Amino acid sequence: MLNPVTGRTAVAAVFGDPIEHSLSPAIHNAAFGASGLDWVFVPFRVGTGHAGEALAAMRCLGLGGASVTMPLKADVADLVGELTPIARRLSAVNCLFWRDGVLVGDNTDGAGAVWALEHQLGASISGARVVVCGAGGAARAVIAAVADAGADEVVVVNRTRASAVAAAGLAGDAGRVASADDLAAGAGLGVFDVAINATSVGMLGGVDGVPLDLSHGCPDLVMDLIYHPLETRWLGEARAMGATVANGVPMLVGQAAEAFEHWTGCSAPVEAMLAAVHSELAP
Ligand code: NAP
Repeated sequence: MLNPVTGRTAVAAVFGDPIEHSLSPAIHNAAFGASGLDWVFVPFRVGTGHAGEALAAMRCLGLGGASVTMPLKADVADLVGELTPIARRLSAVNCLFWRDGVLVGDNTDGAGAVWALEHQLGASISGARVVVCGAGGAARAVIAAVADAGADEVVVVNRTRASAVAAAGLAGDAGRVASADDLAAGAGLGVFDVAINATSVGMLGGVDGVPLDLSHGCPDLVMDLIYHPLETRWLGEARAMGATVANGVPMLVGQAAEAFEHWTGCSAPVEAMLAAVHSELAP
């Protein structure tokens, strides 16, 4: 239920295109309601080439903060007054907040993924061996974040090898590239503590199949960033092999919680945020 909106209500927004199916309004309006904050969250369709106008509108309209999604994440990183170190490293912004009157661009996806792994899956990333499938925007954020959280090894597998090499570089000395065939040999994925799918393989209406072969062994913890469907075939296979699994919902909430805290300075009500997503995604 939306808070009553008055002249004093603070406004936060998400900019992107397409935006109709964004879960951010449900997540953030639930969070504002649960926290008793006089804030409201609205989606705005902003397409390629219009990021500068959206930032100008934020200033002009006095928005309290914003999320940024496809296709604007890189454009906003080029335009914003200040970047957090992780947003600079990734050249991508998914969250805008004000610090002393300056608009700051952050990237909260990786922090959201680590929160999901540690708080929802009970993983200890420090010292862990992690395999990440994918080298796009989400994968790059996850790779940097798990390396920063102290992973011993971050192995990147991706269809396009050049992207995998660049993404593995974000993990510094812990980063390494492997092919799916290399990993299928021997003990397979069983040598890893955590496996993460950060590709769109398995997404509803998208590419069918599984991102990595689990038949030779499965890590104890498996996370798929996809949440349409709530359980991909790959996640189902991992569950059947005894792994503790998570879909993309906890990461989605984790990255939103970081944004909420930037905007409001209050602790995020993550249980209310998780419940809001589950109610949106319920069949
Ligand atoms: P992206 O930048 O477009 O990257 C797509 C990735 O998927 C690339 O690594 C790409 O490999 C790979 N891929 C695409 N089609 C493939 C195929 N047919 N076979 C093998 N690999 C394929 O997208 P993104 O933003 O990183 O998103 C990736 C996934 O993460 C999506 O499913 C998205 O929904 C999910 N996601 C979840 C959250 C969350 O909070 N839970 C947040 C962001 C994204 P190439 O490099 O070879 O093209």
